[in-house]
Amino acid sequence: MTDKELYDSLTYEKKNAYTEMTDAERAEMTELCDQYRGFLDRCKTERECVKEAIKMAEAAGFKKLTELDVLKPGDKVYKINRNKNIFLAVIGTEDIHKGINIAGAHIDSPRLDLKQNPLYEKNDMALLKTHYYGGIKKYQWPTIPLAIHGVIFNDKGEKKDIVIGERDDDPVFVITDLLPHLAKDQMAKKMTEGIEAENMNLLIGGIPIEAEDVKEKVKFAILKLLNARYGITERSFQSAEFEIVPAHKARNVGLDESFIGAYGHDDRVCAYTTLRGILSETAPKRTAAAILVDKEEIGSMGNTGARSAFMTMTFAEITEKLTGRCSITDLNRVIENSACMSSDVSAAVDPNYSEVSEARNASFAGKGVSIEKYTGARGKYDSSDASAEYVYEIGRLMDDDGVIWQTGELGKVDQGGGGTIAQYVANLNMDVIDCGVPVLSMHAPFEVVAKTDVYMAYRAYKAFYKR
Ligand code: MN
Ligand code: MN
Repeated sequence: MTDKELYDSLTYEKKNAYTEMTDAERAEMTELCDQYRGFLDRCKTERECVKEAIKMAEAAGFKKLTELDVLKPGDKVYKINRNKNIFLAVIGTEDIHKGINIAGAHIDSPRLDLKQNPLYEKNDMALLKTHYYGGIKKYQWPTIPLAIHGVIFNDKGEKKDIVIGERDDDPVFVITDLLPHLAKDQMAKKMTEGIEAENMNLLIGGIPIEAEDVKEKVKFAILKLLNARYGITERSFQSAEFEIVPAHKARNVGLDESFIGAYGHDDRVCAYTTLRGILSETAPKRTAAAILVDKEEIGSMGNTGARSAFMTMTFAEITEKLTGRCSITDLNRVIENSACMSSDVSAAVDPNYSEVSEARNASFAGKGVSIEKYTGARGKYDSSDASAEYVYEIGRLMDDDGVIWQTGELGKVDQGGGGTIAQYVANLNMDVIDCGVPVLSMHAPFEVVAKTDVYMAYRAYKAFYKR
């Protein structure tokens, strides 16, 4: 062995995934990414992701868990939680008490929500008040075309799904911003204060109605239009859920089309690849499962978030339908022997801002799926910090299956940080590790990922089910 060969065998260097891939893998990657772009365009909210997941699951032979009394190995089932959270499983041949392999991604993304009394008129313009959801840089959201997605109950008590701004012939909506000529004071502000949350009001109309005795003629016109179209009134908004999202479609980025730019890669890139992974399972040894959760961007709270009991309740339901019983001890055994891939994105090193990352430990776009032992902030606060045993086991699984992966962390120590659902899964007494796609411009209206990493995430989740 030459010194060079010995050096190469003793040292570790991250590799460009594309260079390492076979032609067949590259072709599969392109096909997967074309389909992923379509998914992104159809699924801009958690509700839309769940709907699409049901459609895909049913096409793959999955049945509603609630409609089956008894389960057997090979059965494919799904369960919906409040239209925003879905659990899918393929029942394994092995005793369920030996645990479940579950991959978990989130399907909510940073956005603007409408407030409960959103509509008002000013200067002959009708506007909607918004409340941002998740960690956004507020200055990124004005002056881009926006679409409205949501549900509202009309006067007859019927639930209406409304989407405006996605079809080519739809109008879009926008939050206006100051012209530079008059922005002297604004431009002197800190970036966090340059755009104020209460100024993020959506322009939705400007033609007044001809009505002598009505004061707000534009607002009146908009309400008349909404009532004629959807049977709703101003009060209907009080119970509605409307999400304001970028109206643009997912696009290939780069002359070589090596990247995908889109709204909501965090975390739909992992949700989609997780979904594709579980849907391709047929007869696993250990029961394979996937969960797509809501509310990760606001701390995994609520009954549809990762901190909800929905996942463990579904474990119990599966155990009982498989074995005829599920005592507390049965459920505890299932949980403690289960293992989780927290399928969530990581920060890719941005060549424009490489100073916030520590290059030896950061993840790079195009160098494979990123596996993160810990996330968190400062002294690893709010992190689950996976054990050496589990990190080794996952790494081996990836290597054995030819998955190109890299380690990652969320920025330089003390630069900032963040959390995922991993910590809440870990609290249940389950092994868990973060594994996902490195993203550029995370939480921006147009985030960027490398296609190779999307493909390797899909391969990673499939490899995980061989555990
Ligand atoms: Mn995320
Ligand atoms: Mn996020």
